[in-house]
Amino acid sequence: MSDTANKPAAPSRRKAGRHRGEGQWAAGHFTPLNSNEQVKKDDDGLNVRTRIETIYAHRGFSAIDGQDLRGRMRWYGLYTQRRPGVDGGKTAVLEPEELEDEYFMMRVRIDGGRLTTAQLRVLGEISQEFARGTADITDRQNIQYHWVRIEDVPEIWRRLEAVGLSTTEACGDTPRAFLGSPVAGIAADEIIDGTPALEEMKRRVVGNKAYSNLPRKFKTAISGSPQLDVAHEVNDVSFVGVEHPEHGPGFDVWVGGGLSTNPRIGVRLGAWVPLEEVPDVHEGIVKIFRDYGYRRLRNRARLKFLVADWGAEKFRRVLEDEYLLRKLIDGPAPEQPARQWRDHVGVHPQRDGRCYVGFAPRVGRVDGATLSKIADLAEAHGSGRVHTTPHQKLIILDVEPDRVASLTEGLEALGLTTTPSVFHRGTMACTGIEFCKLAIVETKARATWLIEELERRLPDFDEPLTINVNGCPNSCARIQTADIGLKGQLVIDGEGRQVEGYQVHLGGSLGLDPGFGRKVRGLKVTAEGLADYVERVLRRYLEAREPGERFAT
Ligand code: SF4
Repeated sequence: MSDTANKPAAPSRRKAGRHRGEGQWAAGHFTPLNSNEQVKKDDDGLNVRTRIETIYAHRGFSAIDGQDLRGRMRWYGLYTQRRPGVDGGKTAVLEPEELEDEYFMMRVRIDGGRLTTAQLRVLGEISQEFARGTADITDRQNIQYHWVRIEDVPEIWRRLEAVGLSTTEACGDTPRAFLGSPVAGIAADEIIDGTPALEEMKRRVVGNKAYSNLPRKFKTAISGSPQLDVAHEVNDVSFVGVEHPEHGPGFDVWVGGGLSTNPRIGVRLGAWVPLEEVPDVHEGIVKIFRDYGYRRLRNRARLKFLVADWGAEKFRRVLEDEYLLRKLIDGPAPEQPARQWRDHVGVHPQRDGRCYVGFAPRVGRVDGATLSKIADLAEAHGSGRVHTTPHQKLIILDVEPDRVASLTEGLEALGLTTTPSVFHRGTMACTGIEFCKLAIVETKARATWLIEELERRLPDFDEPLTINVNGCPNSCARIQTADIGLKGQLVIDGEGRQVEGYQVHLGGSLGLDPGFGRKVRGLKVTAEGLADYVERVLRRYLEAREPGERFAT
């Protein structure tokens, strides 16, 4: 691991600009242009670990330096959580210290969603001992705890690391957890297994100080599944399995996707990369982001803004000419997937004759005790592998066909179904006001209520449908890509009161014809009126749909 580079070696070919420009290091702009850049320059985020272990965990919350508390602790997956009872109307007006509690949200990175039952048991034990039983599955395949005390962090790390897990760079301006196909290496229909590349990318860049000061977060996805199961369209870089007519299986490269307040679908570079070259290409793209990424304005710092300005052609040229020092091979685009659902829920064949079994916690919410029971079931029925998916679901791998019925029965007993309703299956929710300091409204409990209402009101609705519920405009639950996206905000109800509600986005999708949902002008629903509104939209669709027509508005 290099300990040198928070800056690229000053490239002689690049001259410092005369003005501040976009704050690109490659243009010589090394002077921090905002407070976040200053914090990162003052001390690398990775260095906070020593202070947590030697000072903060012993002296307690009040001893934590402000820059570390609201900045560098993210490099180890730690955010302060929202103080209970602070309503959404205060989010934008209170100072951070008034909004935050003395407890932390802790994110454990699960690259590729790959877990063993031994790891799952440890995750469950930590949840019960140190996180009041909380354990949410995120849409980036991670596990997220709440109620963590700073005093317990070193012991949690010790237990995680003993089973090969970590929180390093789970948050912060870093290479975040890598999305990977949760059925990599086993699915009968797989084009190529990206796992060796995922492991090597992780080994090269995670926890490496050459890449621990990026302009913003950097999200990677890789999948060789024809089901396009890692939301490749909205990651900073994605490697998507394709069959090259001459060279065989490899990966199509996408860059510059991302959601939040300026959503963009990634663009194809038109390049085909064999498995063994993926880590080089990935590292080259991380370097481009580090060197050329915009650091002046934080809300223009994601890679998508650079890609939008350069275009795919220039991006590929810079990657080839300045970083790889060779040309890439042209390649084909991925094909349309056969299935409409990409979450792997249900029972599916593996290439070795066994099965994998995907099941659905409601809106990603499980708890520590349930994780341990899932581990028991996986050991009794499979080989001890349980994977998380980018759709807040779980999969037990390697189940003999004659053990499937017993497993699904055991899962049902835990409230985890392999045959969820459309609404249960297709609804995702972010953390929301329960714990998130940026939230304006409640999400998980409301989404759970919405699922139950829709199941009761529309029991026969069987069209694949996604409903994504976010607590603020940040889009952690990918609102713009859902059939029905709900963005939390305060709205005025029929009696003129300010209440929790949602801006509605309709008709988003991912896939080969991806697009963002249209913000329905002026259409805001109160939280209380949400089920009535969604029911109305769906009934109207049922009445008007043509044979074979998908839900679209
Ligand atoms: Fe928090 Fe907003 Fe992200 Fe939800 S979308 S987790 S409320 S930042």
